[in-house]
Amino acid sequence: MVKPFVPQLVYIEPRALEYPLGKELHEKFTKMGIEIRETTSHNQVRNLPGDNHFQQYRVAKSTLVVGIRKTLKFDTSKPSAEYAIPFATGCMGHCHYCYLQTTMGSKPYIRTYVNTEDIFDAAEKYMQERAPEPTRFEASCTSDIVGIDHLTHTLKHAIEFFGKTDLGRLRFVTKFAHVDHLLDADHQGRTRFRFSMNADYVIKFLEPGTSRLDERIEAAAKVAEAGYPLGFIVAPIYLYEDWKQGYLELFEKLEDKLPKSATKDLTFELIQHRFTKPAKRVIQKNYPMSKLEMEEEDRMYKWGKYGIGKYVYQKDQQQDMKDTLGGYIDKFFPDAKLEYFT
Ligand code: SF4
Repeated sequence: MVKPFVPQLVYIEPRALEYPLGKELHEKFTKMGIEIRETTSHNQVRNLPGDNHFQQYRVAKSTLVVGIRKTLKFDTSKPSAEYAIPFATGCMGHCHYCYLQTTMGSKPYIRTYVNTEDIFDAAEKYMQERAPEPTRFEASCTSDIVGIDHLTHTLKHAIEFFGKTDLGRLRFVTKFAHVDHLLDADHQGRTRFRFSMNADYVIKFLEPGTSRLDERIEAAAKVAEAGYPLGFIVAPIYLYEDWKQGYLELFEKLEDKLPKSATKDLTFELIQHRFTKPAKRVIQKNYPMSKLEMEEEDRMYKWGKYGIGKYVYQKDQQQDMKDTLGGYIDKFFPDAKLEYFT
């Protein structure tokens, strides 16, 4: 069982202490006996302990930086939402394929932002701009927000904030099962709580540091009982030797453990594994023993933005994935909605 995240080292921006959450976190980590250092900016944390990149990367993944979010311009977040809402950056998980390894470059530590009211105010403006259309906000574009929320409760506040709006919708996805404090949040059905699910093989070998399959399913059942609209992202769909059987077992378990009420308004998002050449280099450096297969010649090249294309599965393999997993969705969850396959 993966325990709830506890940082080994904490950095705090002095100005963060002017906010109630900043003060609360400072007190909490002091009581827990965790070393706290000061940093002038959450973008400038340097000299993390460790003799080499490998060690420093691991220290960074267990370092929490408490700061202020200055950029309140939200990125877009297609296809799952209109905007990404920035409550945190970085993640304590060690998924070998994770895109954060490339996007966060030299700053793989975890950042949490304490000026949550400023972030909510910005969200309010985005909602007004699109009114009377609803606006969806994705809270897990740059982190696994549930993974640190037992410490900050920022997500819980966000769920309740969006529960009070008419046009705001919140979404996030997690690989962590530490959801108990979120079960009594007044969500008003405006938050879609999604879990990232995968075949047991993928979780076991490629997603260390995250909750195991049975823990995630148990958490999903609790979340459904708490009345949240539920969703599953099956990602990355990864073709290993017994993949059809592995994904079948996943769907059988889901059907067995989920309350029937959860299956009426259930969504699925399917995302195949992909990699870029720069990502492959970083992954090989961070996880040199990984079983993750990234052979360019086995894949199809897809041109991307800024000239960096990605390697996806071959056309016939993609069709096979779509048919196989789509078939499982139809069979086990006929009322569910498949939002996209990409
Ligand atoms: Fe990346 Fe998500 Fe894994 Fe965290 S849990 S390392 S964000 S894939």
